[in-house]
Amino acid sequence: APAIWWVRRDLRLGDNPALTEALKAGGPVIPVFILDEVFESYGACPLWRFGLGVEHLAKTLEEAGSRLILRRGKAKDVLTALVNETGAKTVRWSRAYDPDQVARDKGVKAALEDAGVDAKSVAGHLMFEPWSVETKQGEFYKVYTPFWRSVKDRDVPAPVSRPSDLNPPQSWPDSEKLEDWALDAAMVRGADIVRPHLNIGEDAASARLAAFIAHRIDAYDEMRDFPGEDGTSRLSENLAWGEISPRACWHAGIRALNEGKKGAETFLKELVWREFAYHLVWHTPRIVSGNWREEWDAFPWNEDERKAEVKAWKQGRTGIRFVDAAMREMYVTGHMHNRARMIVASYLTKHLLCHWRIGQKWFEDCLIDWDPASNAMGWQWSAGSGPDATPYFRVFNPVTQIDKFDKDRTYLKRWLAEEYSRPTKTALSYFDAIPESWNMSPDDEYPEPIVPHDEGRKRALDAYENRDF
Ligand code: FAD
Repeated sequence: APAIWWVRRDLRLGDNPALTEALKAGGPVIPVFILDEVFESYGACPLWRFGLGVEHLAKTLEEAGSRLILRRGKAKDVLTALVNETGAKTVRWSRAYDPDQVARDKGVKAALEDAGVDAKSVAGHLMFEPWSVETKQGEFYKVYTPFWRSVKDRDVPAPVSRPSDLNPPQSWPDSEKLEDWALDAAMVRGADIVRPHLNIGEDAASARLAAFIAHRIDAYDEMRDFPGEDGTSRLSENLAWGEISPRACWHAGIRALNEGKKGAETFLKELVWREFAYHLVWHTPRIVSGNWREEWDAFPWNEDERKAEVKAWKQGRTGIRFVDAAMREMYVTGHMHNRARMIVASYLTKHLLCHWRIGQKWFEDCLIDWDPASNAMGWQWSAGSGPDATPYFRVFNPVTQIDKFDKDRTYLKRWLAEEYSRPTKTALSYFDAIPESWNMSPDDEYPEPIVPHDEGRKRALDAYENRDF
């Protein structure tokens, strides 16, 4: 009998334990992607990027003599129908840990088991299962450094290469067409402007990892904080969609460490931040939508998205250069440098006193590496309401941060057009990407700060000191 490999955020054939397990069942394997209730709810850019990844995987499968069957609907209904149609007795999928996917998967598993199908999730999205890491007291970790210490010396299985035979069935069930789903429909920003910044598929992901290890990991520790430099791996885009496995990244990092590459340990630590985010989400799912420290529910953050300040923040016209450059970088490339993410998050939640959920949601709409766990953790870290977070009274100064991290203004020049007589191509491309209704032009005067640093800092500290918790 055939087995179904239910494809989700694991768009790869190499080192994919769910695929390996489906093949192990012995019969032909039918790869299936379902545009289901969870994926339908994704923000514009992630959904579009996910669709491009799915398209790429379908092509890769075809080149290998297989196919990707596409269906749309509730995952439980689609899979139950498919096992009836195909006589499949086995379904395997890569385990997910965020509450939306967990709820969906529980329902799917129960329904398939009721139908007499051997239905199982397989670990592949993470290196360290969230329940396998615990403190001496048998609790989960709330602080990163001890989490890192407890996993850093673990044996991570070596990645396995792409299977040579995908064991396709003789006949295939019907498939819908990806074009009919129009996954780019919500991309109001110019998709053709964002497109050249993408790096799609598992071969591109592996090449990106190899280039990082060969050229940048040695100096990673020194360069990773400068948003104008090409100092980081940019693998988040591929990790988000499972186009590369975390253990492939880990093993490459370990090899670099053994070769004496200076930045290797820091890179491994960053990969573990991703694991830590999932550890937190698994043990306290409320972190994806509410304050992890619940007393913060009483903090007087603005939650009204229509406020002019929120609009200015989203549109990259706060008059705070670092913030605006970063917001424009994200709008054009779907990516934002980590230092910039921290700065825009601090400015929104502190200077502008807006709820982190507004920023979380905007990132969810704009990022090509959108990840429910890292995004929630990043926002709550910045806002001060999360575990192991930066305290609220620590307010980044977005002006002096420029002198520290963008001394020669490479990043500002790359993303801001208004103040330069010969703006860069990238800075100008922002104006091609934005909707007309934003009414912005490179010839505009660069705006005065909507909330200058000193005033914003004072406002944030006052609100913090007068809180009633
Ligand atoms: P590198 O520096 O090369 O790091 C290697 C890998 O380690 C990354 O690809 C990523 O998988 C992981 N990593 C690095 N830093 C972090 C971190 N702080 N938290 C979790 N994992 C990390 N990351 C996402 O992948 N998706 C998100 O939606 C996301 N939202 C964020 C929101 C905020 C407010 C903040 C402050 C951070 C967010 N991050 C998110 C984390 C981080 O900014 C990105 O992972 C990083 O910038 C990706 O670039 P890179 O691949 O070049 O990273």
